[in-house]
Amino acid sequence: MPPLTTAQPTPLPHERARPLRPGSTYPARDLCSQCGLCDSRWVAYVRRSCAFLEQRFEAMEAEAHGRSRDLDDENELYFGVHQRMLTARLQQPITGAQWTGIVSRIGVRALESGMVDAVLCVQQDPEDRFTPVPVLARTPEEVLAARVNKPTLSPNLRVLEQLEGSGIRRLLAIAVGCQVQALRAVQQTLPLDNLYVLGLPCVDNVSREGLRTFLNSASRSPDTVVHYEFMQDFRIHFRHSDGSEETLPFFGLDTPALKDVFAPSCLSCFDYTNAGADLVVGYMGAEFGRQWITVRNPRGQRLLDLVETELDTAPVSSRGDRRAAVQQGIEAYDKAVRLPRWLAELVGLVVQRIGPKGLEYGRFSIDSHFTRNALWLRRHYPEMAQRHIPAFARRIVERYKLPTP
Ligand code: FAD
Ligand code: SF4
Ligand code: SF4
Repeated sequence: MPPLTTAQPTPLPHERARPLRPGSTYPARDLCSQCGLCDSRWVAYVRRSCAFLEQRFEAMEAEAHGRSRDLDDENELYFGVHQRMLTARLQQPITGAQWTGIVSRIGVRALESGMVDAVLCVQQDPEDRFTPVPVLARTPEEVLAARVNKPTLSPNLRVLEQLEGSGIRRLLAIAVGCQVQALRAVQQTLPLDNLYVLGLPCVDNVSREGLRTFLNSASRSPDTVVHYEFMQDFRIHFRHSDGSEETLPFFGLDTPALKDVFAPSCLSCFDYTNAGADLVVGYMGAEFGRQWITVRNPRGQRLLDLVETELDTAPVSSRGDRRAAVQQGIEAYDKAVRLPRWLAELVGLVVQRIGPKGLEYGRFSIDSHFTRNALWLRRHYPEMAQRHIPAFARRIVERYKLPTP
């Protein structure tokens, strides 16, 4: 990708565009993921930037990485353009991080090394740990204050509005896929000399209200949950404010109650592995307890270089065969089957022992979500399903038998 210049190929839309007022209808309407673009003057570019109005994966990948993904390469089909994949743990994990804190450590090192002037990241509301507060962090402390997921829709791009006059010319943006799609689309119009993008994989996000419904249905003590994650052992791990842990097998979820809990944006999203980021740090392609890193381009490698000596790394691995489990899951989800707890525990134990691991677990999760989302779109937005489902997702979905829309 050519370096950014101070030249503005398109004039900034200062005078023409005003951020949308709270309460006004966002252009993507029900499908809006509240990415924050429309709360900034870059709302002027919404028609060609919003992930829910126009999908432009191939162009985005070509601009960001120099080429689009090779659909005939099984790893690229699933995980996007990459030059390297590995698994890792921070040797000295960051207390309170979502996993071991690789993302926060990269943010800290990017500031300390002078690589960037600021890090776009998401702190939390002082009154509510799950309400996201996007910021342009200027110090390591401010980056660390953003550690741990806020598992709710976050208007990250809102803070683009603060760039002008801030003195920030080099930025590291930490963001999920829909935010990155919009960011990449306006990248050349931003008042920046350099932009690095550190992506998180993302799926099944919820509004703050949706999170309440989810926790009420899944946890024994919803009000004390401070952290949770769907992990590679097929269980949801909850941590409570008193430090205690609670786990629930995926198969024990109250599927009928949760069918409508995820945001419509996320039920129509196919950017699980964050196609446009330079570097992606998640967990689902790694064995239990480790993080999974995808380096998409040389800029991503430069980000990883900031912390690589602090990591305990290992190659990616893959075991098992996901396909039958995915097909059974499609049917069970569609019929909203809810297993009794004892059976859910039993199925969980068996799947944990013989189920997919490493990259195959990643493919299991991608297949399960892409098939569910394709079906949801065909049922709720049949007129847009064809153009909205990207080619790589269509190829994956075609491998399974879906119920009639
Ligand atoms: P930390 O060092 O704790 O840093 C977390 C970073 O996340 C912070 O910099 C913060 O700015 C950012 N952040 C927090 N909340 C949000 C938000 N709502 N939107 C944007 N940025 C945010 N990984 C997978 O492999 N599979 C998944 O299915 C998956 N789902 C996810 C869903 C959501 C909503 C989110 C936010 C992340 C998800 N991840 C997923 C990523 C994973 O959970 C970890 O965030 C990632 O591995 C980094 O861990 P860490 O310990 O290095 O992060
Ligand atoms: Fe605007 Fe973002 Fe919503 Fe699209 S998803 S309408 S760009 S705020
Ligand atoms: Fe955005 Fe997709 Fe994550 Fe929803 S699941 S917040 S649409 S990246």
